[in-house]
Amino acid sequence: MGHRDLAVDLGTANTLVYERGRGIVVREPSVVAMDAERGEVYAVGAEAHRMIGRTPATIAATRPLRHGVIADFEVTEAMLRYFLRKASHRSRWTRQRVVMCVPSGVTSVEMRAVEEACLSAGARQVALIEEPIAAAIGAGLEIAQPQGHMVVDIGGGTSEVAVLSMGEIVVEESLRIGGYDLDEAIIAYVRREHGLAIGQPTAEEIKLAIGSAGPLPEELRVEVRGRELVSGLPREVVIDSAQARDALAEPVQAIVDAVRETLDRTPPELASDILTSGILLAGGGALLHGLAERLHDETQMPTYVAASALTCVAEGAGQALEEFEVIARRQALNRPGRSRGGSRARR
Ligand code: ADP
Ligand code: MG
Repeated sequence: MGHRDLAVDLGTANTLVYERGRGIVVREPSVVAMDAERGEVYAVGAEAHRMIGRTPATIAATRPLRHGVIADFEVTEAMLRYFLRKASHRSRWTRQRVVMCVPSGVTSVEMRAVEEACLSAGARQVALIEEPIAAAIGAGLEIAQPQGHMVVDIGGGTSEVAVLSMGEIVVEESLRIGGYDLDEAIIAYVRREHGLAIGQPTAEEIKLAIGSAGPLPEELRVEVRGRELVSGLPREVVIDSAQARDALAEPVQAIVDAVRETLDRTPPELASDILTSGILLAGGGALLHGLAERLHDETQMPTYVAASALTCVAEGAGQALEEFEVIARRQALNRPGRSRGGSRARR
């Protein structure tokens, strides 16, 4: 009993499923392509992701989550059903217990939506775990002690900053800025400075290739293809990493500011712990070149990127599966007010 239990990191950008005893069994983009005429799911995950910006009028490839929360309930449910089935090897479909990850700043209504989407997708029982806690467990931090740790999780649509102690979140801040906002900033820059229209996948490629939060040891350049606004024809321009850094300056600064403000609100004992334990960066956005150095410069705290930044939330939630009853009980206690001693902020 219990070996088939699953943990799901339902992210704005990527969904990961961890199976107890096996590890990560599903890792795909959180994208669904819907056939509008028939009202049916056309493709899910990696297959649907390849269709973004390339679909005919009758098919729409969309991301059903926005800023970490469910924006389209039905499509999210369809996506979850697909991933849960995929995780259960399509063999005998048994209804599993599932631990779902949720961003730390969500409302109880948003949490309820995640739980319900998961139940109607076929789960037998659902327990929720907050993403910063899962990230810390997945990165191997000892969070049960009365000792402060700071986690910064930068996903596709959110950045979450949390200070943890004794297994709980003491201070937190959620920012509705993530990797996709960096892509948007690149789109706007290329349009403004080069008169070229590019799509989100191209902007993301530029970010991964040359994006940074600080000067690089060697500045890089890429060729970018798009549609020229004036002529309407395809054209190619060259963009270098200094330009990309300019483009990204604003959203990157917003993330840095959120970290500084959270440190500002952290009780002194915990703040001095963080001076030793440091800031753990997780999520895909943590992989932006120079971000850890930039945060270190601006906060003077040791800052490091999780060894598996893209998977540590799912891995931590997977480890938490071993204590499913504990999480479920703790969650029942926290409800409905969910009031904790700590302070929270959401912007
Ligand atoms: P979510 O939890 O919201 O699903 P992820 O943690 O999977 O998000 O991170 C996805 C985001 O990370 C995307 O915006 C992606 O562009 C960004 N990302 C992934 N790898 C890198 C990288 N090497 N440099 C910068 N950003 C990255
Ligand atoms: Mg995430």
